[in-house]
Amino acid sequence: MSLDGRYDADNIFAKIIRGEIPSVKLFEDDKVLAFMDVFPQSRGHALVISKTSQARNILEMEPEVLADVVAATQKLAKAVNAALKPDGLVVTQFNGAPAGQTVFHLHFHVIPRYEGEALGRHGEGGMADVEDLRALAAKIAAAL
Ligand code: 5GP
Repeated sequence: MSLDGRYDADNIFAKIIRGEIPSVKLFEDDKVLAFMDVFPQSRGHALVISKTSQARNILEMEPEVLADVVAATQKLAKAVNAALKPDGLVVTQFNGAPAGQTVFHLHFHVIPRYEGEALGRHGEGGMADVEDLRALAAKIAAAL
């Protein structure tokens, strides 16, 4: 999918927001939702989305909504850092399929990095064990 196109109200993150498919949540309010990535590139990989915007990418995002999502991304990064003590943190965001985007509802990734551990390939990792995700989420949520 290119940068141009229409928002698909049945994309996987829209379904997570509506509660139509499960997710391991970290925090949410009426504006944003943070949850664990189910195909993590590293231990503690998590995502932040807007619950209100239908922006597919950063080009379409309303600036005031983007500000809320970025603030939530920083909040998540701080909690991941406090809970998991990684050696580094990648914060990233992809726009358009050629750039690596696979879900077309704007989101930020928070990906902890650990010395000596290779990063999993984006979009090609295996599905995480849900109990492992819940245990990580409990640690991260406790550090919020
Ligand atoms: P993108 O490739 O669009 O930047 O990122 C989409 C992310 O969503 C990927 O890291 C992928 O692992 C994650 N993802 C895809 N499907 C699901 C799902 O059903 N649940 C969760 N929690 N994450 C998903």
